[in-house]
Amino acid sequence: ALSHHEHWERQWRNPTPKKQYDVIIVGGGGHGLATAYYLAKEHGITNVAVVEKGWLGGGNTARNTTIVRSNYLWDEAAALYEHSMKLWEGLSQDINYNVMFSQRGVLNLGHTLQDMRDIQRRVNANRLNGIDSEVLDADGVQKIVPILDCSKRARYPVMGASWQPRAGVARHDAVAWGYARAADALGVDLLQNTEVTGFKIRDGQVYGVHTNRGDIEAKTIGCVTAGNSGVLAKMAGFRLPLESHPLQALVSEPLKPILDTVVMSNHVHGYISQSDKGDLVIGAGIDGYNGYGQRGSFPTVEHTLQAIVEMFPIFSRVRMNRQWGGIVDTCPDACPILSKTPVKGLFFNCGWGTGGFKATPGSGHVFAASLAKGEMHPIAAPFSIDRFHSGALVDEHGAAGVAH
Ligand code: FAD
Repeated sequence: ALSHHEHWERQWRNPTPKKQYDVIIVGGGGHGLATAYYLAKEHGITNVAVVEKGWLGGGNTARNTTIVRSNYLWDEAAALYEHSMKLWEGLSQDINYNVMFSQRGVLNLGHTLQDMRDIQRRVNANRLNGIDSEVLDADGVQKIVPILDCSKRARYPVMGASWQPRAGVARHDAVAWGYARAADALGVDLLQNTEVTGFKIRDGQVYGVHTNRGDIEAKTIGCVTAGNSGVLAKMAGFRLPLESHPLQALVSEPLKPILDTVVMSNHVHGYISQSDKGDLVIGAGIDGYNGYGQRGSFPTVEHTLQAIVEMFPIFSRVRMNRQWGGIVDTCPDACPILSKTPVKGLFFNCGWGTGGFKATPGSGHVFAASLAKGEMHPIAAPFSIDRFHSGALVDEHGAAGVAH
């Protein structure tokens, strides 16, 4: 049927790299593309290149389970994720691309008294920060998700949940493509199949990158390379407190609509939603070992599905269709790094680990402002690498909990 549809308009140009730009963004995932877009749109800096070793959005951006929420515990993290949530709410209009942001709500289940105390605390903190958040008891959860096993017979009975109604899911590819098209339209050069192999540094100041397509110069460089950030930091001569782990996800065969919200459980350890296509979209925790291969091991898949069947016995005979992995860059305090580095002009945006998709617009927005001004934006400032010296960590292990 599509055989006579020719001359499709390309969504973005395929330019030849220039010798010099004002800003280079390394990494064409959602965060890098969003940064480039906001640099051009909000700061008038359009002489920008996004340098991507593969294809745009081919990293974690297109491999994640797309859960978007902002119910983090500490003020610093809540400010960052809520800033992002507000941008999500207008994103399709802003970039003129339907990112299918669906505010269907997210439940974080509690299965023990301690879970429920933690939920109470986090919900109270959220409300003080103006973030929509509620504590539900088991009956409240059952009303929202009738197919969830909320009976006392369950191995880990559901005692309640936190509920963020404005949270939900979005279409990950569309986020990358939408930012890419909008950035390109403002003059940003998107350079695919262009791998950064080293940095050009003189007297402690960065002035360019080596790539497989030649050297490209710029005095401001933002490195947004997720699971490869440790490798890039090494090229620049310093270390980051990051570990790169595989994180897997899987989808089922398409089903009729059966689950209209997102359910996460730290305790049983899995999370699930249903895509608009009908697939159950499922994920859990990282594979324990370090690595850069974008795939994981079978025990993790098995454990994840045990958790899902524990919570949803109704899904026990659903067949799984596809499984894949990404490489996530986890930080000791489960918070990102948005920071200057020991090399002048070189900034890093990484450490989002298992939960950075939800932050894509906010991260790009504050990182662009930081690159434009040469000083970290106030929302980004608490996430400097200095915190690993000063001890001012933002411990979000509780809210990050199960990978998501
Ligand atoms: P990426 O999309 O990975 O982009 C980085 C880019 O850098 C890549 O395209 C890569 O090719 C490029 N690159 C690397 N090295 C070089 C180089 N030397 N030169 C040039 N380019 C280079 N987050 C949530 O909020 N909700 C979820 O439900 C969720 N689920 C997840 C499930 C899975 C299975 C995975 C893997 C992740 C999940 N995440 C989730 C995390 C989320 O996907 C990431 O935090 C986020 O997408 C990171 O975006 P990014 O743009 O920083 O990275």
